[in-house]
Amino acid sequence: MFDIIQLQKVKSLLVQPKNIVLVSHKNPDGDTIGAALGMFHYLKLKGHTVSAVVPNDFPSFYKWLPGSEEMIIFEKEVSKSRNLIQKADIIFCMDFNSLSRTGTLADDLAKASGIKIMIDHHPEPSDEFMYSFSVVESSSTGEIVFAWIEKLGDVDKISKNAALALYTAIMTDTGSFSYSCNRKETYDIVGKLIHMGVDASLVHRLVYDTFTENRLRLLGFAISERMLVWNDLHTAVIYLTKADLKKYKYQVGDTEGVVNYPLSMENTNLAVLITEKDQLIRMSFRSKGNFDVNKLARNDFNGGGHKNAAGGNSPDSMEKTIDRLRKVLKGYKNDLNYKITL
Ligand code: 5GP
Ligand code: MN
Repeated sequence: MFDIIQLQKVKSLLVQPKNIVLVSHKNPDGDTIGAALGMFHYLKLKGHTVSAVVPNDFPSFYKWLPGSEEMIIFEKEVSKSRNLIQKADIIFCMDFNSLSRTGTLADDLAKASGIKIMIDHHPEPSDEFMYSFSVVESSSTGEIVFAWIEKLGDVDKISKNAALALYTAIMTDTGSFSYSCNRKETYDIVGKLIHMGVDASLVHRLVYDTFTENRLRLLGFAISERMLVWNDLHTAVIYLTKADLKKYKYQVGDTEGVVNYPLSMENTNLAVLITEKDQLIRMSFRSKGNFDVNKLARNDFNGGGHKNAAGGNSPDSMEKTIDRLRKVLKGYKNDLNYKITL
């Protein structure tokens, strides 16, 4: 699974105490936060000086995670983050495979002299890293971090706090074990995490059952008033304007998961969420089965991701974006037309 030579080199790097910075991707999700915090606790226990930097703020439903309060938000603490990155001996890049995924942090990372180590599961990694631990078939970066620490012979240095973070990463990146979850290895690791003290149902509640009233009402509104169903293309689109988000007092994380709901309709193979943010239009793509949204996002919407979950951007207005999406999808009409079979 890992390149043994690279693993040995990193193992010897970590023998002496180092200044280490963990970096997460932009618009952080549970995997990039959980994988970074898992490493954070592990590396601290190994005696290193460790900080974790995230490009922008992350949802409040991850803020119960031990150590999350120590994460430094680049947008809020620019010079502190820059200093840490400049001085780092080692920079771990968690859950992304191209520096551009860190947004405004990318330049600082490119210039940094520290050794860059990528731990990730996205396809088509770039070559900007000195060491790459990329396992595309893995459910999540959290799962890879566990396997990686185990391979280093340090499983006893995974504390309960690290286990909580890694479990959260796996749970969220598999949509609570509903996709990217067909490998036995994932469950072997989950079993070990539970053995280390993780309360799986409690973690589920802390992440998924902590909506504000506004967030739940926004979800209802999105489905009843802002969903377009394109039966000819086996696609459903939810769009949310700036005004919609304002009306429901949008907070970071409030639209997380919204894109999954249209997929619960029979015969819908692609779901798209289009959100109007301050300066740009964000797009989230989810598919069932064969349709490759990574390809769609890369080719047509300046983004990327995995086969069944990807994101992208549009420079156009909401209306134009929806028009263009429909035109683009017409080109994929045959690929979108399939039935899920056993
Ligand atoms: P989400 O729709 O939840 O923002 O993202 C879904 C998946 O696509 C995640 O694995 C995320 O890392 C990836 N992703 C989201 N936006 C982008 C993007 O702009 N570029 C690339 N390469 N990947 C993205
Ligand atoms: Mn991930």
